[in-house]
Amino acid sequence: MYTPIMIYNEREIAAKAAAILRNKGNPARVVTEPQSEPHRENPVFILQTPFEERAQAIQSIEKSFDTEPDLEREAIHCPQCNSTTVEFPNEPQASPSMKAFAKFSDFLDRIFGVEKNHKFHCIHCDKTWSKKR
Ligand SMILES: [Zn+2]
Repeated sequence: MYTPIMIYNEREIAAKAAAILRNKGNPARVVTEPQSEPHRENPVFILQTPFEERAQAIQSIEKSFDTEPDLEREAIHCPQCNSTTVEFPNEPQASPSMKAFAKFSDFLDRIFGVEKNHKFHCIHCDKTWSKKR
């Protein structure tokens, strides 16, 4: 199972971070997610790593900040604790009935043109927020 460790606004920076991890034998990958539905605009690029290798991956990335400062500078930071270990859950954990309700509310959102925003979540301090460029 893959888990997010950092999020970038720029695809190239996310790819560079993934390459650093892959050089260390971690099969890291980058996943593109839209920040809002249904317009699919301003995507973010999520660096993901296998769950078991998350702690080591975060360490490797933080070590590389000295030589690759843009990996830290361009990462999305938590507005509360300034941590870069941020995730972007696209599917909230929910029961089947909650999922049915979510589908129904998606349907209403589409009818009424309501924009649904994903939320960022800080792994360090548990803050959630939404950010648009
Ligand atoms: Zn935080």
